[in-house]
Amino acid sequence: MQQLLKDLRRIDGLIVEENRPLAPLTTMRVGGTAGCFLKPTSLNGLEGLLNYLGGRQIPYKVLGNGSNLIVSDEGIGVVISLSRLKRIYARPGAGLYVEAGCTISNLLSWCLRNGYSGIEPLAGIPGSLGGALFMNAGANGISIGDFVEGLCVTTSEGSHWIDISGDFFRYRKSDIPTGGLISAARFKIMDEARKMEDSRAKNSAMVPASSKEVLQNIRNTMWKRRSTQPLGRPSAGCVFRNPSAEVAAWSLIASCGLQGKRIRDAQVSEKHANFIVNLGKAMSQDILSLIGLIKKRVWDETGVYLKEEVIVWDNEKQRL
Ligand SMILES: Cc1cc2nc3c(=O)[nH]c(=O)nc-3n(C[C@H](O)[C@H](O)[C@H](O)COP(=O)(O)OP(=O)(O)OC[C@H]3O[C@@H](n4cnc5c(N)ncnc54)[C@H](O)[C@@H]3O)c2cc1C
Repeated sequence: MQQLLKDLRRIDGLIVEENRPLAPLTTMRVGGTAGCFLKPTSLNGLEGLLNYLGGRQIPYKVLGNGSNLIVSDEGIGVVISLSRLKRIYARPGAGLYVEAGCTISNLLSWCLRNGYSGIEPLAGIPGSLGGALFMNAGANGISIGDFVEGLCVTTSEGSHWIDISGDFFRYRKSDIPTGGLISAARFKIMDEARKMEDSRAKNSAMVPASSKEVLQNIRNTMWKRRSTQPLGRPSAGCVFRNPSAEVAAWSLIASCGLQGKRIRDAQVSEKHANFIVNLGKAMSQDILSLIGLIKKRVWDETGVYLKEEVIVWDNEKQRL
């Protein structure tokens, strides 16, 4: 481990930390430490890092904003955070470029300042762009992937742009090439003339709008979110994927009378049955036990097998 840290400290554009607690970096507030926590401060730094790790086949995990994660209590070996890669820049006629570490909230602030509408239904999703694209995060009938036309993928070989087509993005899923991570995305922007021509533009591209309109849309989304989700407690959002477009996971869980069910400080939310909240001192293991209990009860009572939407970081091989 000491040799690894020493080697990594030689890479330009990289911040290296040892034994960084991960719980404060996740919205669920659980998990052990990252033995080696790495923050590239430039794309070159990220490329140098992946080249080093790839060459030695050292496994790593990528952390976005930690809002869809249950991190193991035992901790993880190597974790890369892209939180320092967060620039947004518009190239007239060539789209809007956003680095993966930018939060959805900062992207929305940019849209508000610059008068672009489209992704306001995603307001309140507490993720980074990279995590949101990996998960194809969505809400209120739209998904982030609908608005993206290109992705910059970085691997141990370097970075390259891929064009998005077909079903690259699906329900809470994307086809990011194995061994690659998303370092930036290019969003579709439509000008006023094309917006008038194409009535579907609003659900697939950023379109010009007044800041007043964008602000009102964000406020409406946030109001809806606050009234349906337990935002006052740590959580990782919806725990389970919806089994189909017609059947919502929350309704199955609620129908089994599981709201309020607790394992130590992990509790099925009273406000939204598909959320598990941390009442204070929950451990990752408590949350995983509660997930197991919910799956079993829903299977026994309804015959539906629920699948997790949250990502569990619990891999022995990740520990160094
Ligand atoms: C209160 C609350 C409300 C939520 N509401 C919604 C909602 O309405 N809709 C919705 O879809 N989700 C929702 N979520 C879940 C979560 O916010 C989203 O899934 C979000 O997109 C995750 O982004 P993140 O940056 O936090 O990713 P993380 O949780 O950090 O990581 C999630 C996964 O993405 C991978 N990843 C992260 N960055 C990259 C990258 N650059 N390249 C490749 N892989 C990467 C990670 O390795 C991990 O596998 C909610 C969560 C909370 C806590």
